[in-house]
Amino acid sequence: MSRPQVKLTNTVLDGKAKETALEEAAESLARNSNTIMIDDEAWITAEMIATGALSPCTGFMNAEDYNSVLHIGRLADGTPWPTPLSFAVSGDRNQEVLKNLKHGEVVTLLNRNKEPVARITTEEVFEYDREERAQCVFGTTDKRHPGVRSIYERMGDRSLAGKVELMSRPHWGAFEKYRLTPEQCFDYFYNKKGARTVVGFITGANPVHRGHEHIHRTALENNDMLLIQPLVQLAKPEYIRSEYRIQAYETLLNKYYQRDRALMNPLRVTYIFAGPREAILHAIVARNFGATHFAIGRDHAGVGSYYGDYECQTIFDRLYDGGSKELGIELMSFNEVFYCARCGTTATENTCPHGKQYRVAISGTAIRELMRYGYMPPKEVVRPEVARIAMQGIQPKGLDENGNSIYPVGSIVKKMFPFYLVAKRLGGKLREKPLSWEDLKLEDVERALMDVRENSDRILKDIARDTEQQFDVNREVSACWLDEAGEYSKERQEHMIKALEEKVEAADPEADNRMFQSRAEAEKELETAKHVHHSMNSKGVDPKKLQWNPLKYDEYR
Ligand SMILES: [Zn+2]
Repeated sequence: MSRPQVKLTNTVLDGKAKETALEEAAESLARNSNTIMIDDEAWITAEMIATGALSPCTGFMNAEDYNSVLHIGRLADGTPWPTPLSFAVSGDRNQEVLKNLKHGEVVTLLNRNKEPVARITTEEVFEYDREERAQCVFGTTDKRHPGVRSIYERMGDRSLAGKVELMSRPHWGAFEKYRLTPEQCFDYFYNKKGARTVVGFITGANPVHRGHEHIHRTALENNDMLLIQPLVQLAKPEYIRSEYRIQAYETLLNKYYQRDRALMNPLRVTYIFAGPREAILHAIVARNFGATHFAIGRDHAGVGSYYGDYECQTIFDRLYDGGSKELGIELMSFNEVFYCARCGTTATENTCPHGKQYRVAISGTAIRELMRYGYMPPKEVVRPEVARIAMQGIQPKGLDENGNSIYPVGSIVKKMFPFYLVAKRLGGKLREKPLSWEDLKLEDVERALMDVRENSDRILKDIARDTEQQFDVNREVSACWLDEAGEYSKERQEHMIKALEEKVEAADPEADNRMFQSRAEAEKELETAKHVHHSMNSKGVDPKKLQWNPLKYDEYR
């Protein structure tokens, strides 16, 4: 696959068209008719549509597209599209404006300073069913689901369909300098960098961790470029604020990545996303920004326990016969990534054969919670330079009056230190009965964290040292202090053998064991001491005994 075959839409007004639009908007404002105040989120959605991030859509959906999208995940013309794009502003005045709109009428969208920023040319206004929308998009009508909640809390009864045109775009604040349009991304990847393949990666509100890094590195081994699109401003209140996440990314890219093969371009997305269908929308967005491949983890758009573990990966095939290829993008699905102290690297079930007792799991939630208690996560989970920035952005910083965070403390162990539940120490012997995470205290979290800090890189090191000590034929680089200590022990053992030999010599063969030791027993004692001596082998193998090929060196040439 090379360069995505997508016709980018562009409805950003400039030059004469913009002038005219602004004049018309001014008239409309003066008449106080057909104007709607929008919040920043709606403005950002308008910007996404106008710049082509949501190509081929050029506006908000009509009833036909809307219903088709809900029920079969396609626009009315058959184009795959997973989530409805609706302009259903709430508020009585706004709904009143929508109600009276006629086909072809232009609605001016005003930002909070009452400046005209975009306009919609009315195609139709239609009513929709909230419950149906929730059920089709999110698979649930449970109002605790954030996507469902926003349908009920943020949306009005009527939806306006029509083409969107942008007159001016919102300033991106702290993210302004990273902002690129789809067109600019295409230009960068394919004209400037000559890329053949680009892997898109869209990431939610968690701090970037070694699990993400594992995916990025794997993707870059076989592809030219990586497009990282952190979602900003979607943060739930307990998440880490976007500014810190972006700085954390910047740090990771600068310190650990081949800088010119990775591009970071934040996505300012809004309340329209969440759930497995979100994964499809993300793949489309990534494609529109130039990605040929889309890397997706186990729990891409995780919302509590509403969906199965890999649902965001399987939904592509469930919804479309041709899977992600129908979208013009190749899916790269990843299993859950963890750090295995025995492998000495990040790994997945696909590659690591070792047990849970060796594993440090990588969970965004656990990272956040650990930080909330004031602890830096282990380096195996988050790079230290990244963690120090992410930690400053943790919200809320503190704990409640009982010293608890919003998650039970044991869930940190369950999500990050699974070894602790099954083994007495990292890589250690298995417990007879696994611990249950519900019973754990902060002290257990601390113990597990200390264990990882002390021992995560020791297991492989121990094994290596032991093996080197035994098998280094040339002793120049071996731990000579161990040789010496072993030599001394051996010498002492020889003294012991000598003493026992003398004891055997002097022993009375007929002695009563209750008063004096018999010779037979002393002989046994001596035998044991000799065996200990024999098995002391600190100096490794005898090189002379290793040679089995009698050819001389120069006979090899
Ligand atoms: Zn392993």
